Amino acid sequence: MSRLMLAVAIGVVLVAMLWLMYGLQDRKLLRADAEGEQTARIIAAAVVRPTLDADGAAGGRLSEADIADLREHVSALRHEQQVLALGVWRSDGLPLFLDEDPQGARLSTPDLDRARRGELWTANVAGPGETPALRVYLPIRTADTPAAEFVVGVVLAHDDVVQEAESRLLRQQVSTAVVFALIVLGLVAGRRRLVVRERQARHDTLTGLRNRRALKEDAGRMLARATDEKPVALLLLDLTEFKTVNDTLGHAAGDVLLQQVAATLLAAVRREDLVVRLGGDEFAILLTDLSDRAAAQKRAEQLLRRLRETSFTAHGVDLAVDGSIGVALAPEHGRQLSELLQRADVAMYQAKRARRGTTLYDVATDQHTVGQLEMVTDLHRALADDEFELHYQPKVSLPDMRVTSVEALVRWRHPTRGLLPPADFMPVLERAGLMPQLTQWVLRRAVHQAASWQRAGMPLQVAVNVSPRSLLDEALPARILAVLRGAELPADLLQLEITESAVMTHPERAAFVLTQLASRGITVAIDDFGAGYTSLGFLPVLPITALKIDRSLVTRLLEHPENEAVTQAVIDLAQRLGMTVVAEGVETAALIDRLTMLGCDQVQGYAISAPLPADSLEGWLADWRARCDQSRRGAQRSSPQESGQWALTVDS
Ligand code: C2E
Ligand code: CA
Ligand code: CA
Repeated sequence: MSRLMLAVAIGVVLVAMLWLMYGLQDRKLLRADAEGEQTARIIAAAVVRPTLDADGAAGGRLSEADIADLREHVSALRHEQQVLALGVWRSDGLPLFLDEDPQGARLSTPDLDRARRGELWTANVAGPGETPALRVYLPIRTADTPAAEFVVGVVLAHDDVVQEAESRLLRQQVSTAVVFALIVLGLVAGRRRLVVRERQARHDTLTGLRNRRALKEDAGRMLARATDEKPVALLLLDLTEFKTVNDTLGHAAGDVLLQQVAATLLAAVRREDLVVRLGGDEFAILLTDLSDRAAAQKRAEQLLRRLRETSFTAHGVDLAVDGSIGVALAPEHGRQLSELLQRADVAMYQAKRARRGTTLYDVATDQHTVGQLEMVTDLHRALADDEFELHYQPKVSLPDMRVTSVEALVRWRHPTRGLLPPADFMPVLERAGLMPQLTQWVLRRAVHQAASWQRAGMPLQVAVNVSPRSLLDEALPARILAVLRGAELPADLLQLEITESAVMTHPERAAFVLTQLASRGITVAIDDFGAGYTSLGFLPVLPITALKIDRSLVTRLLEHPENEAVTQAVIDLAQRLGMTVVAEGVETAALIDRLTMLGCDQVQGYAISAPLPADSLEGWLADWRARCDQSRRGAQRSSPQESGQWALTVDS
């Protein structure tokens, strides 16, 4: 119930009460009249009529005895203070009897006409100084005169009747007022309860911000006002790495952080804007009063900056908060909330992927997203129809440049788009939940390929990339063993490449799977080491055989001396822990030289070979061996890839 409705309801109740009380006031007089009439009827029937009947009012007159009798009655009634005056007339107006109050209550004859017409009527008399009295005229008949023949007039003391009626009225008015007061109290209490319940239904209990329902209810009104000149912006904010806070510091700390973020957001917007927690670490903000689309993006950037610059503390730990904001505008991108939410979500996802902070929705890029949806269907088919292929990229050891193993890298031979690299379909595949199937397919294909090479007298270890999610699957070791057994491949010819993130997010599960694998002789390499959040702590405790230094670190090695120091440190550390260090993304001979100097164990990259299909790899391998032998013999020292650019600095 709105405040207005409550006011209207209370107003209606008050009017009803006043009307009822006024009605009671009116009825008080009516009731007093009715009671007076009743008394007059009784007097007429019990006192006057028997006299007239007995006498027959012979000759239209009463006998002296009758008159004396009536007087006696009247004085008795007057004594009881009921009757002040009594009169009896013939219907032609001739008075038969008149006994009037010595104090002044009179019966008048001019009003007899109406009484003669057979009407019963009353009149209130209350002149100044006079006692309030009620005058009643009523026609009566005697037993043998059916038509009205006589009129009895009675003046009654009115106070008693009125007082009685008044006290009854007071009681009724008080009880009416009480009933109405209770009704009003009930209405007010009901509304308060409703307000509280509504507040709870429209607010997020953790942060006190509005919730999704409130957004749904309020957005319509705000969006309806949007024009191209004064757009309304819907911002969708998702915090970066919030999950890590929950995972490492616990949910209670996560809650505290969310509360602080909510307060910061609230303080950063205007009164007329709307801040909503949609759930988890996702917030929506409706911004009004914008001058144009640029202003919307600017406000989004300000909000994000505010978050980044605020120092948050949860459970004594200082936390830096970052996030991604997607912006959709009304009316440009839609007027319906659902439409805007979906578009802001697309923009937010782009912001996240591009690490851009804030992104304004763009139709052109969204069509790409729609394309991704179609891709999900295509991927299901690709898995069923075997449209994937594996390419193999060699790793060579330093300083002898012998090929030690190959890494299997998946590609999709798309029926219309040609050969697609993983970046073009992996994110969609992962989100569609198809990663387990792909991992299984890659494993089987790679293991069978390695087995076939082994049978051909060319044993090569094959490395398979396993996504973080797959690594956390506790059934993975058993599945891998089944594949190995099926292909009759020794476990040491298979290596798994995993990223640190898998280990970092769920250390216990990752450790379990890793030890299972290691106990069966399957080796594991940490991929992309040094690219993300690197934690060295877990390295010594997990059964890890190799460390692959991320391309980003390797590429900058020559230009930035500090990278060299880091690379050197990683190499030293890994070797001290008994691991093999592999540098990936090695594109030049100069890099190979430098890495050799730093003591790196293996290199992989375009400088040696791009990933190749299995049959091309076989030819390449033969060629590579020939060149290595040649260079070992001290002849022409050239790169198989970039002939003459780098010299094998090996003298074996
Ligand atoms: P990654 O495991 O780090 O693989 C190395 C990527 O770097 C490969 O890209 C490779 O082609 C490329 N690369 C190799 N040498 C060089 C170089 O010298 N310079 C440059 N710029 N790049 C080089 P690709 O094949 O596109 O794979 C990209 C990523 O996709 C892989 O990164 C891996 O994370 C993922 N991936 C590939 N195949 C699979 C797979 O079968 N399963 C899973 N889960 N992930 C896979
Ligand atoms: Ca890899
Ligand atoms: Ca890598």
